[in-house]
Amino acid sequence: MEGRPQHSARLPVSIVGGGVAGLEAMVALRDLAGDRVEVELHVPRREFAYRPLAVGEPFGAGRVILFDLGELAARAGASFRLGSVIAVDADRRHVVTRDGHEVPYDYLLFSPGARMLWAVPGAVTFWGVADEGGVADVVRRLRERELRRVVFTMPGGAIWPLPTYELALLAEAELARVGARGGVTLTIVTPEDVPLGLFGVRAGERIRELLAERGIDICHETVRLWWNRFGPVFAAEIKKRRRLLRRGCPEWRWHLDEVFVKINGKTHYLWRAVDHEGEVLEVVATKRRDRHAALAFLKKLMKRYGRPHRVVTDRLPSYGAAMRVIGNAGRQECTGRRINNRAENSHQPFRRRERGMLRFRSMRTLQRFASVHGTVHNHFNQERHLTSRDIYKRNRSAALAEWNTLAA
Ligand SMILES: Cc1cc2nc3c(=O)[nH]c(=O)nc-3n(C[C@H](O)[C@H](O)[C@H](O)COP(=O)(O)OP(=O)(O)OC[C@H]3O[C@@H](n4cnc5c(N)ncnc54)[C@H](O)[C@@H]3O)c2cc1C
Repeated sequence: MEGRPQHSARLPVSIVGGGVAGLEAMVALRDLAGDRVEVELHVPRREFAYRPLAVGEPFGAGRVILFDLGELAARAGASFRLGSVIAVDADRRHVVTRDGHEVPYDYLLFSPGARMLWAVPGAVTFWGVADEGGVADVVRRLRERELRRVVFTMPGGAIWPLPTYELALLAEAELARVGARGGVTLTIVTPEDVPLGLFGVRAGERIRELLAERGIDICHETVRLWWNRFGPVFAAEIKKRRRLLRRGCPEWRWHLDEVFVKINGKTHYLWRAVDHEGEVLEVVATKRRDRHAALAFLKKLMKRYGRPHRVVTDRLPSYGAAMRVIGNAGRQECTGRRINNRAENSHQPFRRRERGMLRFRSMRTLQRFASVHGTVHNHFNQERHLTSRDIYKRNRSAALAEWNTLAA
């Protein structure tokens, strides 16, 4: 809500959107401010559709109750305007409606609902009324024994996982009702540590029992499985696109550095090469930190990126020995205290993730994670501190759009 306080008798407040949020605000304003506000509701449709069990609708279990918004507004002492808002002019404090009217306001509450940007690619998604047909079709195919195994899942980062569980339980009840439960496997795949963990660990244990009683499997593998399957594919594609751009660069300088990583108590080494702009070129995990490891690392780099103009390293003698073998000795620089900060700072995002993941259990997972993480970090790292907000937002949108095409 934005606006400036006024000392006139009634403050004009515009509410855009006649969903739960808009109506709650209207009623709350009436209760809290009474006659001191003059509320106007902008809605594209005359009815408010109350859906107490939206997920039940594809199963024929939910019901929709329609309320007349004009009546609700009148009961809350608000006025009511039919039509979508297409623009807000915050400087002149008015909203523009689809039929061309400019409606002034002092305070504006904008509650047009959420819009889905991302779901699990390839899945039948249930986001609300518009997707009811897709879910109803899955239910029909289950009833007719056309489908035998169904996975109910949600993308990582979902803050309200309840509908996934409701859909699985409703599907199970429906199959039991029509006598088609036998031979059908229903599985919930969730990124949560505990089922419905937002209600607490004990509730999670009860949910697990409830699902077991109904023969619904639960698996906590979403993030790992999706990551394992798609992470390397996305990373390879991003790498391919960026590699060609960087090779022609006149200032082609590499910074190399290595850090210690403990796996099951044993020290391993993670070698990292970044270029003069801090872009991660390669990350390689090894068991040793000697000439052979440095040589393997350099060979891998040169195979992919050609020969650099200069290579900045720390004073580890293995670099010098490997450079001599490979014929790069004249290009190595290893003096100066902060000269290799580019590579040293580049380990930080990895270190943060390493802590979050409670370290690694094998060198293979370390290698796979570190190289995918480096590439994805390149893609989304917009160097916020170096650019204006406008450029940053433009670059971020471009990166997201590219990511969405990769994931499509
Ligand atoms: C899968 C799923 C299942 C759910 N199940 C339930 C359930 O069983 N029970 C429950 O209570 N909740 C459920 N919810 C949550 C509930 O749908 C939302 O919390 C609630 O609808 C959010 O209300 P809102 O007012 O923010 O948005 P919305 O309900 O989306 O309302 C937005 C309103 O703004 C209007 N609008 C949009 N653009 C404009 C514009 N330019 N100008 C004017 N008006 C505009 C729209 O027409 C709409 O009326 C579920 C949600 C999901 C995703």
